[in-house]
Amino acid sequence: MSQTRPAPRPRIRLSAALGFALVHLAALGVLAVGFSWQGAALCVGSYYLRMFAITAGFHRYFAHRTYRMSRFWQFVMAFLGQTAAQKGVLWWAAHHRHHHRFSDQPEDIHSPVQRGFWWSHMGWILADDYAESRLYQIRDFAKLPELAWLDRNQFLAPILYGFLLWLLFSWTGLFYGFFLSTVLLWHGTFAINSVMHVFGKRVFETRDTSRNSFLMAVLTMGEGWHNNHHHYPGSAPQGFLWWQVDLSYYLLLAGERLGLVRDLRRVPEKVRAVARERGAWHFSRRPFERALASFDAAQAGVAARLDALGAAWADRRDTARLSAALALEELESTRARTAERLERLQADYAAARAALAEETRRRRQRAAALAEIRLEELRAEIQRTAQALTETLERLVAAAEGRPVPPGAPA
Ligand SMILES: [Zn+2]
Ligand SMILES: [Zn+2]
Repeated sequence: MSQTRPAPRPRIRLSAALGFALVHLAALGVLAVGFSWQGAALCVGSYYLRMFAITAGFHRYFAHRTYRMSRFWQFVMAFLGQTAAQKGVLWWAAHHRHHHRFSDQPEDIHSPVQRGFWWSHMGWILADDYAESRLYQIRDFAKLPELAWLDRNQFLAPILYGFLLWLLFSWTGLFYGFFLSTVLLWHGTFAINSVMHVFGKRVFETRDTSRNSFLMAVLTMGEGWHNNHHHYPGSAPQGFLWWQVDLSYYLLLAGERLGLVRDLRRVPEKVRAVARERGAWHFSRRPFERALASFDAAQAGVAARLDALGAAWADRRDTARLSAALALEELESTRARTAERLERLQADYAAARAALAEETRRRRQRAAALAEIRLEELRAEIQRTAQALTETLERLVAAAEGRPVPPGAPA
């Protein structure tokens, strides 16, 4: 995608790598503490609390200014975000602004396309060259002394937070609520820079490789709609459609109700319209289309077997009639009825598929859903009827050949 090659990788700072590894080791302390539901709840609660401060605070507020809040709440948000131990608030937001300016270009400091997956995931964070906050990228917040102070003292918040958890919940609090939760939170956040530029669905043709993922959106409180975000970074929500879950945004909406935040910037309708057109339908239809294709393949196999049995029966019918048994007559009429029914069902199935295609074309979701249900019923019916016909034919062929008739009730 790029014409120029990226500069050589900056060197990893040893102290940073050591600290990073030590926190991972400390997370293993949960093994010594042992499992408890309280520990699990503390881990998950602490994860989502701080994920909110990172996504709604560091990302959507400090890096992108997609809403407004008072200087007091802004400080609270910055402090809470820094308990995630992802360096200072100005460092975080400034580097992120840089990412948007050069995303997946040679200048991008965490692009999996330019420097590989693991570099984009965590290598860059430990690099010597990127250790300083790029204050020129974030003059708007860097001029506030309380934020500049917080940014310079990046270890204060995590240490206080870890200490508080230890005070309140002892070792369970420290190892589950702080260390394990922090490690998960790191990789959840880092995955947006790595995974979300590699795996997932692209809805918008952005100049970078950003993608959307439902699963990642759940794990990161809405950040998984990363392709949406690169296309339109100026909105508070990153989920553009009703089914694109975005927990951070829901909480921000609640905050707006309570008067804690204001002026949340929304997504323009024309952007949403494109997302709706390209996103929703593919999302809901792909598994269904796969099921249809596999049914058709299975049907082809059944049809071939029916043809072979039908031919075998036609060959033997006349000789069989000579030695005619009444049972054969009855079986023969069953075969004729079942074959006729199968033909009708298959015609219905073809018609229902055509109707579904038509509804799909018109994007009428409700009608299409009904057509899908009808199709599903028909498929089950066809399968049953084809099975009955196969059995009848098998018995007919066996009877004509004078073999013992296999058991089974006529359809
Ligand atoms: Zn990105
Ligand atoms: Zn962003």
